[in-house]
Amino acid sequence: MELPKGTLKGLARVVAPLSFWMAAGWAAYPTLIKKIMDAAGETVNMNEINPFSLFMVIACIVAGTVLAVYGFTGNDATDAELLALAKRETLCPYCGKNLPEGSVQCPGCGNKIPQF
Ligand SMILES: [Zn+2]
Repeated sequence: MELPKGTLKGLARVVAPLSFWMAAGWAAYPTLIKKIMDAAGETVNMNEINPFSLFMVIACIVAGTVLAVYGFTGNDATDAELLALAKRETLCPYCGKNLPEGSVQCPGCGNKIPQF
């Protein structure tokens, strides 16, 4: 099934802020892990953690920026397109025949169509 127009943009708008939030998390990660390991009396190799954390911060910021630009720019679906989507014909759940809008019984197999 084809996704309704604007679905991916809507998804990008949700995920973009999460990406920035994750970037903040990765930025705080080395400090937090050091505190936790110090408290536990363990040593931790910050030479491994710092570059990985930096990489994740940059990756999350880049991903968030790309998603934000994609999600918040360009055109959404027009009213006419949404109306066409809402009126789109449905399929019979029993035989798969295309049904006109508002059908209560399938003209193909005679089964009653569940109404939502
Ligand atoms: Zn049918």
